[in-house]
Amino acid sequence: MAKLNIRNCARCKKIFAPTSGEKICPECRAADAELEERVKAYVRDHHGLTVNQLIEGSGVPAKLIWRMIQQGLFENAGLLDAEYPCANCGKLITKDVYCSECAGKLKENAQKFAAALVSKRAAAEKKSKTFSDSMHDMMNSSR
Ligand SMILES: [Zn+2]
Ligand SMILES: [Zn+2]
Repeated sequence: MAKLNIRNCARCKKIFAPTSGEKICPECRAADAELEERVKAYVRDHHGLTVNQLIEGSGVPAKLIWRMIQQGLFENAGLLDAEYPCANCGKLITKDVYCSECAGKLKENAQKFAAALVSKRAAAEKKSKTFSDSMHDMMNSSR
């Protein structure tokens, strides 16, 4: 069955058709690209900026700048620091999405979740096995 591939833009909530799993609509992407250009130009024109100066000076939302830093767009671009907050606790970090503490916790949670899934599945398998075993017994006894 063909599934109509549409979703709500994560930013403006407008419905659009993603072509390769994008979360925001083309208009928001274009707006982002424009802002990114502004940020890049600002960094080019002002050497030796800190991230905060860049956020204040360019007038671009901090989130977008943090994402650009995260993507490594400012490596060797003349920024004094390339720090942004951990997506979970807000501690300043320079790589990945989460700080090492949060990353560890999240990993732990993910493992717990996976373990819970596995034991659930094992229980379900046990059940179906018992069922097939009893079928087997039944067939054997009717022989
Ligand atoms: Zn949008
Ligand atoms: Zn954290």
